[in-house]
Amino acid sequence: MIENASIVIVGGGVAGMEIATQLGNTLGRSKKSTITLIDRDSFHVWKPMLHTIAAGTNDVSLQKISFMAHASQHHFTYWPGEMSGLDRQNKLVHLQPIKMPDGTLIIGKRSFHYDVLIIAVGSCANDFGISGVSQYCHFIDARWQAMAFNRTVRGHLFRCAMNSTEMSISVVGGGATGVELVAELVQFVEMADNYSQFDLNKKIKINLIENGPYLLPAFPQKISSAVENQLKKLGINVLLNTKVIAAEEEGFRLEDGQLIKSTLMVWAAGVKGPDFLKHLDHLEVNANNMLLVKPTLQTTLDDSIFVVGDCASVINANLSPTAQVAHQQAKYLIKEIPNWLAGKKLPPFEYHYLGGIVSLGKYAAYGSLGKYGVFPGGFIQGKVAQYSYDFLYRSHQKRIHGLFKGYLLWLAEQINKITRPSIRLD
Ligand SMILES: Cc1cc2nc3c(=O)[nH]c(=O)nc-3n(C[C@H](O)[C@H](O)[C@H](O)COP(=O)(O)OP(=O)(O)OC[C@H]3O[C@@H](n4cnc5c(N)ncnc54)[C@H](O)[C@@H]3O)c2cc1C
Repeated sequence: MIENASIVIVGGGVAGMEIATQLGNTLGRSKKSTITLIDRDSFHVWKPMLHTIAAGTNDVSLQKISFMAHASQHHFTYWPGEMSGLDRQNKLVHLQPIKMPDGTLIIGKRSFHYDVLIIAVGSCANDFGISGVSQYCHFIDARWQAMAFNRTVRGHLFRCAMNSTEMSISVVGGGATGVELVAELVQFVEMADNYSQFDLNKKIKINLIENGPYLLPAFPQKISSAVENQLKKLGINVLLNTKVIAAEEEGFRLEDGQLIKSTLMVWAAGVKGPDFLKHLDHLEVNANNMLLVKPTLQTTLDDSIFVVGDCASVINANLSPTAQVAHQQAKYLIKEIPNWLAGKKLPPFEYHYLGGIVSLGKYAAYGSLGKYGVFPGGFIQGKVAQYSYDFLYRSHQKRIHGLFKGYLLWLAEQINKITRPSIRLD
């Protein structure tokens, strides 16, 4: 039994934000434990919408949630900072110094004490050590990266419009992130064209490059084929069985020596855990830097450390890095941590696959249903799939804000759709 436990959550994404909010509302509110959330960003954003922020079809200022304001309403404390190390014997989380963009030090290295540590730092794109990728490619793993890419796209778009030049955007990775991003980019260009009449859609070429024989390898073949056809109809150049061996200043170099000339390059192929996880006081990781955890989500070497979401690898379970897994693991910890603090034995985490959905912006959406739904193993598409996709985000908002505030946020978005341009034009 642990009384007045200090529970520290590192990473306020899909899993961490739900855990901090719910444990804050229960253990924090009743003062049975202190709940602390640490995140390197000062805002929470639902990561599965980053591609829409990157493409400019969604405005981040309407979607981000201030950790500090949210913490004050939900009985937990938020500290900005980037975790870089761990001292398990003294139960300390070490954070990097925080600096201004010009390098001026704001605050030096700090350490936080924990009784229970929950690591929820997510994942980042895996460049598999391919030459030039980290130097020349954009990544869409964090809010600032999505915003930086969008700024660049808008800059190039204006140049195309004003100078009558052409541009090409190449995205590597035919998984959900790559597929959804290229569809949103088409939507962005189409809307910009409607506003400007500069024939932008004739001047901008979009390539989607995938190493494997089909798109969306995690989805059934029927969905992969439907998505491929739809993307081709939208004018995207889909290159399958195409291996990139390097990113160069001019574009992507392929295995056969060909160069896919690209004004902008995005890398969205595969994920791995952040590199610092490899050096966390000897905690075990898999080949992709994900921390190994037991079925109770406790690390293999230390029961007071739990890991959830993309950065966790549950031994003997083959779970994909998805928001669905992150949410179910968060839900498990929200229920079980109070029991564990009270000295009860933890049951194993059980994952229920509820299906997968891929959204091609306003053009189409496709989904496969899991074996636990109303129509086990079925397919959905069109409006039903689009609503199901939106439902994932609305459910997350509801868990974080409650039903009423979640509804108001939805309403505000509907009003904004009428009163503001549907893409970012600033
Ligand atoms: C463009 C895109 C589209 C996607 N679409 C879907 C989809 O349609 N459906 C689906 O199920 N999944 C989708 N995913 C995957 C989904 O977003 C992730 O599986 C999910 O966000 C994982 O949740 P998480 O809590 O583990 O991590 P995240 O949500 O990534 O949160 C990690 C948090 O940790 C913080 N952090 C990171 N490092 C540190 C550090 N060192 N110190 C402190 N804080 C740190 C970050 O700032 C972030 O707030 C998509 C992903 C992307 C990139």
